[in-house]
Amino acid sequence: MSLSFPYLGTFSYVVEAIAKGMNRKDIILPHEPTYKTKQLGSRHASEFVCTPFKMLLGSLIEVLDRGAYQIIFTLFVDFCRLGYYSPLFKLILDDLGYDFELIDLDWQNKPEFFRNFKKLTGDLSAWQAFQAFRVGWIKNRYIDYTEELQFSYGAIEVNKGSTRRVAKKAFRLIVETERMSNIRKLPDVVKKMFENEVEIDKKANPLKIGVVGELYAVVEPAINLHIMKRLNDLGVITYTPITFTRWIDLGKRLNFFKKHHHKEAVKRAKPYLEYRLGGKAQESIGSAILYKEEGWDGMIHLYPFTCMPEIISRSILPQVSKEYDFPILSLVLDEHTGEAGLQTRLEAYVDLLDRKRRGDFK
Ligand code: SF4
Repeated sequence: MSLSFPYLGTFSYVVEAIAKGMNRKDIILPHEPTYKTKQLGSRHASEFVCTPFKMLLGSLIEVLDRGAYQIIFTLFVDFCRLGYYSPLFKLILDDLGYDFELIDLDWQNKPEFFRNFKKLTGDLSAWQAFQAFRVGWIKNRYIDYTEELQFSYGAIEVNKGSTRRVAKKAFRLIVETERMSNIRKLPDVVKKMFENEVEIDKKANPLKIGVVGELYAVVEPAINLHIMKRLNDLGVITYTPITFTRWIDLGKRLNFFKKHHHKEAVKRAKPYLEYRLGGKAQESIGSAILYKEEGWDGMIHLYPFTCMPEIISRSILPQVSKEYDFPILSLVLDEHTGEAGLQTRLEAYVDLLDRKRRGDFK
């Protein structure tokens, strides 16, 4: 009854932490998607389905080939194709002859969510299962925090690669740490790791770019070709508000005093796009306004090929960019996106931001 899930950027650490918290010793950890993963998914999916669908399908095939039986996914119904992912995975994988159980965790349907979550927890009581989930959402916060540090330190590190090495160590530490008293200390421990182990250029005044767009395109380096690292290597601090915390972090969700970037962004987007379309369409537009007001230098908008909601926001963003005098670069990604083309566009964009900051366009 081995348990697995498709690879999903650093959220894979969170799922691993939750599974460990449920005492599951039979976890098959998915590998980072490779060219082969993309090919596998593309071979068995419709040509025009969203790119994330193909890559997730490829990742599922890989874990099933390695012996997985229970597969965790979500049946999150949005205004786009997202709600079709899980049923289509089931149909395609059944057709391919795989014997497996797809366990959908759908937060919109709470009784079903807990019924399905219970299937994963075996002998644990409801309270113990809830605790495992709680540890997961707290660790999700710290994983986001580690990424934030990584994408800040990475821009001003003196020894290339040192930030990534520390971040990797920190992610493992977060997954492996047990007992709430130790887990609560993790933010301080991780911060010290970066401070002590990454030498930085204290005189640097790096550009700052926000990265937004469709969830998978932002969180999965295999589709965005490690865009955060590329920007860091160009000396740019990056940050993204697109993470899973907003769904699974019940602590934050139930805290009515907490300001949520995505809710604020949706409000600010209303004059341009009044209704929700799915994906992060409204959020992408509102984020541009918020980043401008917060003094960021620019924003990169990522969306997968054939992504319906983000194509709409992509067509509105040039207007926002013009009205707010805020440079925005939209990039469409699919399994054929080439590294050289992406790199050239990033370099040109960063060069433009640099010149803008120096006042060359006045
Ligand atoms: S947001 Fe875009 S890429 Fe994601 S499921 Fe919806 S249409 Fe597909």
